[in-house]
Amino acid sequence: MAMRFVVIGGGPAGVAAATHAARLGADVVLVERDVIGGAAHLWDCIPSKAMIATGGALSFLERSEGMGLETVNPHIDTLNLSDRLASITSHLENSNNELLQSQNVRIMCGTGKLVGTHEVEVTLEDGAIEVIEADAIMLSTGSRPRVPEWCHPDGERILTTRHAYPPPEIPEHLTVVGSGVTGVEFVHMFTSLGSKVTLIVSRQHVLPDKDPEVAYELEQNFIDRGVKLLKGARSTSIEREGDTVVVKCDDGRIIESSHALLAIGSIPNSDMLNLDAAGVENEWGFIPINDFGQSNVPHIYAAGDLSGKLPLSSVATMQGRKIAEHMMGKTNDQDHRYISYSKAASAIFTEPEIADVGVSQAEAFAHGRKVRVTKVPFSASAKALINDDPRGFVKLISDPATGVVLGGSIVGRHAAELISIIALCVQNQLTVTDLAETLFVHPTLSETLIEAAE
Ligand SMILES: Cc1cc2nc3c(=O)[nH]c(=O)nc-3n(C[C@H](O)[C@H](O)[C@H](O)COP(=O)(O)OP(=O)(O)OC[C@H]3O[C@@H](n4cnc5c(N)ncnc54)[C@H](O)[C@@H]3O)c2cc1C
Repeated sequence: MAMRFVVIGGGPAGVAAATHAARLGADVVLVERDVIGGAAHLWDCIPSKAMIATGGALSFLERSEGMGLETVNPHIDTLNLSDRLASITSHLENSNNELLQSQNVRIMCGTGKLVGTHEVEVTLEDGAIEVIEADAIMLSTGSRPRVPEWCHPDGERILTTRHAYPPPEIPEHLTVVGSGVTGVEFVHMFTSLGSKVTLIVSRQHVLPDKDPEVAYELEQNFIDRGVKLLKGARSTSIEREGDTVVVKCDDGRIIESSHALLAIGSIPNSDMLNLDAAGVENEWGFIPINDFGQSNVPHIYAAGDLSGKLPLSSVATMQGRKIAEHMMGKTNDQDHRYISYSKAASAIFTEPEIADVGVSQAEAFAHGRKVRVTKVPFSASAKALINDDPRGFVKLISDPATGVVLGGSIVGRHAAELISIIALCVQNQLTVTDLAETLFVHPTLSETLIEAAE
């Protein structure tokens, strides 16, 4: 009899695990209470990047003079923008559904929870309840925005990231609380869409976990675009006074704006999973996993944001795939590889874009590790001049003894695409010579990577 595999949560982790396990011969049920594709498609990665793309198109048109065009004055059509976001989400949902159906995955539209070590109870959309037996279970219910007790989002003027696609109106003045990756992306998004933006930065710099040089470049860009940075301040309350939103900070500063957006992290969706029924342990709601994705109960796996590893869609997808392989006994194959979380590439879709992978310069210095750092600005690139956008740089980190590429950071246009080249080197321990001797297309921005490798 085929292995019976039940997946609760149909985001990137759930879809990848279900499809892959079915391909490997498992009998798979995928339980999803909302949209196949998950929060990633409905609220997080996709709509945010679609809005950023619209903002990018707008600022590009406003700067069109640099491309030899007459300047135009386009404006935002929020209805059209809403339709665009909905159509991208539904297109992706349909493709995922088709993919799952083509692999004979049974999709159950409902809410799942554990009721035993091998039993999952599903409350279907019509209220009916079904209990399904499983040989293996994967929990991939994702996370949701963290909302502190001092803030009560109303979805109209006090927003979480889930209310912003697009909000009922483009804010005249938006205060963004939180200066991590999500916060800075929203600052960029709304600045490009024409809002005046104030950013509350709890530390001395935005992106405290990133290379300081990279964070500095972004801050300069924000300042050039009129963003007001309030550094060293923590919000203590956000309240509405009519059409004004008042944000108070612990150092006594008060900001009045038309809207506020909270971007201070996420909490895991594990509270409704009834983990105790199967004895699954959690830490602050996250489910600790081993290298195979197993929880403390070996046939119950966890993946994606719920696993408390890197909260990235790309990581969730890879975890889902690896879990399907482990469950189907494929991890003994010679070519099986574990996920190396420290080699995951990530990007911040601001302007300029920021992307990094592997060891950073600051990290190497902090650990006293000898590294070779080469930095090449895009201003030396023909393609950057053709694009009328010479901002930013490529920084390549390698081992001085072996030449193996250890990491890199890119700031500039298409950084999120270009970083994949460095990620390939880091993952496969390629050297700077391997990179420098590859024949890239000319003229392209990727040639700057070759220069950094030479
Ligand atoms: C604003 C924002 C932008 C982001 N942008 C990016 C980006 O550009 N790139 C990137 O890599 N990452 C990005 N991320 C992170 C990314 O969205 C997450 O890491 C990713 O969605 C995690 O995937 P997942 O499979 O764990 O869960 P999710 O995508 O959260 O999906 C979980 C699914 O489980 C379902 N579910 C929950 N409970 C139950 C239940 N009891 N029964 C049935 N179904 C249930 C939910 O409805 C949901 O569909 C972003 C995050 C945010 C907040």
